[in-house]
Amino acid sequence: MQISKHKVAAIHYTLTDNEGKVIDSSAGREPLLFIQGIGNLIPGMEEGLEGRKTGDKFSLKVSPEKGYGVKSEDLVQRVPRSAFGDQKIEKGMQFQTNHGHVVTVTNVGLSEITVDGNHPLAGVELNFDVEVMSIREASEEEIAHGHVHGPGGHHHH
Ligand code: ZN
Repeated sequence: MQISKHKVAAIHYTLTDNEGKVIDSSAGREPLLFIQGIGNLIPGMEEGLEGRKTGDKFSLKVSPEKGYGVKSEDLVQRVPRSAFGDQKIEKGMQFQTNHGHVVTVTNVGLSEITVDGNHPLAGVELNFDVEVMSIREASEEEIAHGHVHGPGGHHHH
């Protein structure tokens, strides 16, 4: 069986940036389960996984355009310090906006705070080392829900 649309695949992966720093890894955890072809993964991963078989080991390089997007200057904003009330604000702090976006403080000025709403991995080239552990058909219910059920997947109560 090969990975193709509406197959459930389990993969182990390690994600590094171009400096070799590990950003994320499934090592020591359960493999990542996903349904292929419906946007569970970033586009570059879906493309690179298409047609792979159980046991395949390979490296994938994913551009920001097919990963978490390019950095947008429009998402960098200066906010008056007063908007944060009495809170102590430090560089690197993260806040959730009313719209559910996460912004990161990138500069703290005397009267203004700069926040960046870009995804932390926006603009970053992603290097994945992947091993395909298993592949099966997705059930109709899984396809309808858009996520994997059962062990390692989504549990409904
Ligand atoms: Zn479900």
